[in-house]
Amino acid sequence: MRCVEARREVCKTAREIYEARLVPGTWGNVSALVDDLMVITPSGMDYGTLSHEDMVVVDLEGRVVEGFFKPSVETVLHLAIYKNRPDIKGIVHVHSPYATAFAVARRPIPIILEETAQAVGHEIPVAPYAHCGTEELAENVVKTLENNKKAVLLANHGLIAGDVSPSAALNVCYIAERTAMITFYAQHLGNINVLSSDDIKYLHEKFKTYGQSKDK
Ligand SMILES: [Zn+2]
Repeated sequence: MRCVEARREVCKTAREIYEARLVPGTWGNVSALVDDLMVITPSGMDYGTLSHEDMVVVDLEGRVVEGFFKPSVETVLHLAIYKNRPDIKGIVHVHSPYATAFAVARRPIPIILEETAQAVGHEIPVAPYAHCGTEELAENVVKTLENNKKAVLLANHGLIAGDVSPSAALNVCYIAERTAMITFYAQHLGNINVLSSDDIKYLHEKFKTYGQSKDK
C-alpha cells in the first residue's frame, strides 16, 4: 500500500472534522499531497467508521491509482489547488456553521483576533458561487486563493483551507470558524474592530517562529 502515513493523517483529520461538528453527515473532504500523488477521502462515506485503507490515491489528473472507492466529488478542486500552490501539501474542506453563514452572506471573515492574524494572516474572502464538484468552482477558488492565502469561503457552501499538512489546514479551519463566530457575536454587541495591517503583519511574522526550537 502506498502513502500509508498520508492515508493515516487524512483519515484522522476526516474523522476529526466530523467529531468536531465542522461537517454534517458525509459532507466535507480532506486530502494530502505526496510527491505526484494525492490521498483523498472517498465520496459519501460515513466518517465515523472510516479506516486509512478506505482513502483513495489519485494521480495529478485525478485517475485512481489505488483504492476501493470513488474519490471525493471535490477531487478536481483539491488537485487544482495543489497544481497552483506548491507550498500547500494538505487541504481540508468543511461546512462549519459560522464560516458558512459568512459564505451565505458573501462577506469575508475579518481579522479581529490575534490568532487569526497569526495562523491565517489575511481576511478570508469569498470565492464566487459555482456548483460543487465543477471545474468552475475550482477556478474560482484558485483565483481567490491568490497571494498566498490559506483559506477562502465558498459562496453558499462552506470553507476550504490549505497548509503544509492536513492537520495544519484543519487548524486554519478551526481558527476561521472561531473568528466567524466571534465576529458574529461582536457585531451584536455593537461594532467590530479589526486589527491594523501593521499589527497583522507583525503577528503573522512572529508566529512563524513561535514555539520550541528543536535546536535547543
Ligand atoms: Zn462541500
